[in-house]
Amino acid sequence: MTTPSLHPSIDNGVQAGSDSFTGGKLTCQCDTDPVEVTVESQTAHNHVCGCSKCWKPSGALFSMVAVVSRDSVNVSANGDKLEIVDESAAIQRHACKDCGVHMYGRIENTSHCFHGLDFIHTELSSDSGWSAPEFAAFVSSIIESGFSPDDMDGVRGRLRHLGLEPYDCLSPPLMDMIAAHTAKSQ
Ligand SMILES: [Zn+2]
Ligand SMILES: [Zn+2]
Repeated sequence: MTTPSLHPSIDNGVQAGSDSFTGGKLTCQCDTDPVEVTVESQTAHNHVCGCSKCWKPSGALFSMVAVVSRDSVNVSANGDKLEIVDESAAIQRHACKDCGVHMYGRIENTSHCFHGLDFIHTELSSDSGWSAPEFAAFVSSIIESGFSPDDMDGVRGRLRHLGLEPYDCLSPPLMDMIAAHTAKSQ
């Protein structure tokens, strides 16, 4: 059996980000008239995610997703090709109608813990220097997409080898942020 790709951006090692990086452009996978999103910020909390909602490149077990403040995200070309994948989801993922790539995910609920942050996939950018993935979230969820439970030790081992601690939810700092938000709103 060939080893399945975790994600093409990390299969050969994790690339470090650049402290002086200040943003770049994301483009969808259309050959003609690609959607372009300009991000005027470095990313934070970059991670790989095993959930079934995040967009993943074909053949990858994980997505790679990071956050930026929503005011740093602007659709700069062919925005008419964008549509929201699921209007009822907490994160509204704006995807290209033609190639299916998710260009950014946005939270419109102002009382949501992560309101104000957009979710983006920096692999859609040809610019280098984006912050590197730091951990793996929702690892057990790849089973929901069809991955064999028997092979999970191997996946968690490969993630740890890459320095990406595997969690079956978000990382402790993000889980703490959610819990603190819940405590404040009670
Ligand atoms: Zn496209
Ligand atoms: Zn996800």
